[in-house]
Amino acid sequence: MASIFSKIVAGEIPCYKVAETENCFAFLDINPVAKGHVLCIPKQEVDYIFDLDEKAYAELQVFAQRVAKSIKKVCPCTKVGVAVLGLEVPHAHIHLIPLQSEADMDFHHHVKMEQQEFVDLAAELAKNFE
Ligand code: AMP
Repeated sequence: MASIFSKIVAGEIPCYKVAETENCFAFLDINPVAKGHVLCIPKQEVDYIFDLDEKAYAELQVFAQRVAKSIKKVCPCTKVGVAVLGLEVPHAHIHLIPLQSEADMDFHHHVKMEQQEFVDLAAELAKNFE
């Protein structure tokens, strides 16, 4: 059965899309730990990120770098933090999180966002993706 993230890539489940390339896809985390929390995934469905072959892994990292640059432009932050957990969804993904302080990288703390805020933020990030 396809992962929830493969269904997002296929357009079968909605998401707040931020960026897409031939092999990668980025969208807002639905339960963000900070405003601007983005997930970057390979379209190829591989559970564990370090099982990606070298080319796919490198491509995902370069894609995440481009997305992080968009986040840095759009979201007030000192730096964009990077995390890989993968304990919940078995489809490799990189969390990008705008950070003001170390406390912002707290996966037990979530921020509330209204639907329109997700829509507007995703559009702004997409506009600034280069
Ligand atoms: P983990 O696998 O532990 O890295 O966590 C999975 C992440 O995916 C969590 O931060 C969830 O909030 C996020 N997530 C799960 N389902 C969706 C979805 N349908 N759209 C956006 N983010 C999701």
